[in-house]
Amino acid sequence: MLNKRDFYINGQWVSPAKPRDCQVINPSNEEPCAVISLGDQADTDAAVAAAKAALPAWSATPPAERARLVRGILAQYEARLEEFAEAISMEMGAPIDFARSEQAPCLPYHTEGFLKAFESIEWVRPLGPQAPGSAVAMEPIGVVGLITPWNWPVNQIALKAIPAMLAGCTCVLKPSEESPLNAMLFAEFCHDAGIPAGVFNLVNGDGAGVGAQLSTHPDVQMISFTGSTRAGKAISKAAAETLKRVTLELGGKGANLLFADAPEKAVEWSVRKMMSNTGQSCNAPSRLLVERSIYDQTVAKAKEVAETIKVGAADQPGKHIGPVVNKRQWDQIQGYIQKGIDEGARLVAGGPGLPEGFNRGFYVNPTIFADVTPGMTIEREEIFGPVLAIIPFETEAEAVEIANDTPYGLTNYVQSGSPERANRLARQLQSGMVEMNGKSRGPGAFFGGVKQSGRAREGGIWGLEEFLEPKAISGWDFSAG
Ligand code: NAD
Repeated sequence: MLNKRDFYINGQWVSPAKPRDCQVINPSNEEPCAVISLGDQADTDAAVAAAKAALPAWSATPPAERARLVRGILAQYEARLEEFAEAISMEMGAPIDFARSEQAPCLPYHTEGFLKAFESIEWVRPLGPQAPGSAVAMEPIGVVGLITPWNWPVNQIALKAIPAMLAGCTCVLKPSEESPLNAMLFAEFCHDAGIPAGVFNLVNGDGAGVGAQLSTHPDVQMISFTGSTRAGKAISKAAAETLKRVTLELGGKGANLLFADAPEKAVEWSVRKMMSNTGQSCNAPSRLLVERSIYDQTVAKAKEVAETIKVGAADQPGKHIGPVVNKRQWDQIQGYIQKGIDEGARLVAGGPGLPEGFNRGFYVNPTIFADVTPGMTIEREEIFGPVLAIIPFETEAEAVEIANDTPYGLTNYVQSGSPERANRLARQLQSGMVEMNGKSRGPGAFFGGVKQSGRAREGGIWGLEEFLEPKAISGWDFSAG
């Protein structure tokens, strides 16, 4: 078992102030694979103090030099990619090929995107022709606390730590206690890339401990959080006392509107997209809304596709889906599957219990319910597992009404051969993102939601600006440089 008890503070790996062990469980076999420490107030304070001390020099470092240092993280990633993918796979259950091809590459993908967008930042810009001598300067917000989940662990770290450092902020990362190992490797990448001491710090811990300590800390100017809507609300309340900026990326219950004129491959795409990452994606298209005229054939096809999806251990090569992250999630998903049955939805694939052939590991059957109606629990609540709800609709207006009748608003999806309809719906759907006909967001697009999915905008120029504070200056002499 790996000993990963130390925290990365002020450029060094240091022991926790008080020992408090926490085992990291491999969800494929339920065995502990590493031991970390859960931090204490003294650890959080030390990390925040290091970040605060490093802030003046880092924020004054020329942007091009900050970019050069951040770019150095990519070389570390390249050199240690396999180790990185294996850590993600072991701690959160992503099958190794998926960890190599989808999870780990989120780091270079977002870093390259941020570095490109970074070039376009005008640090001091004229206010406008109506106000000569007035300028707006973009300033780093200060010390930031980064709190991340386990489901796409390095995706979230890259979307926060990279733009924070580029913007000139210093940071303290508290990764999920379920998936700390990739985060600790990321800290090593930062160290070996020469990021100065105190600019990036990492303290492991749980939400009630380090999470809450960062959220309430008077020297932390901003919390960037990704995780559940429940924790997002708790953080907002905790942060209110110090009036820090809080950006939230939260849960989702995406609608996927499938029309009779959609390309044939749309059904298969929809099912696979839902089951990918074992359904543990906040932007999963978990409600498949199907036009009545193609409803029966869609349900039959969806069942057929779900039954081809294999389940297996994360260390096995192949295109199967892995286990869900932990026992709590497994129990919760089983509860939702039972609720679906009890509330009268029609189970067409998968179902409760462990898949055939498994007696340990947090594996879930790829499950499909048809005849789901608006208001059923599995239609309302985020399940965060491989469970798809299929809902029939008669008219486009009804589809939009069902899609929008949710507290969430992260990503909605449209499958239609009519460009007019697709464009119309893209504007009507209440979400931060709409993806049509299987086309994913382009490089430089942000990720973010509306309503209870949170209102952060991560990625590209928007994701950098989240860590900057505009300052209005009058009497600025542009000729003075
Ligand atoms: P979670 O909210 O339980 O935990 C996320 C992080 O917050 C962890 O680091 C945890 O320790 C910490 N935390 C928990 N309670 C806290 C508190 N009161 N104060 C401070 N920190 C606290 O979520 P999870 O189970 O790790 O992740 C799954 C959730 O994340 C799902 O709801 C999913 O939709 C959401 N998610 C959203 C996005 C997005 O970009 N919108 C992306 C990925 C995951």
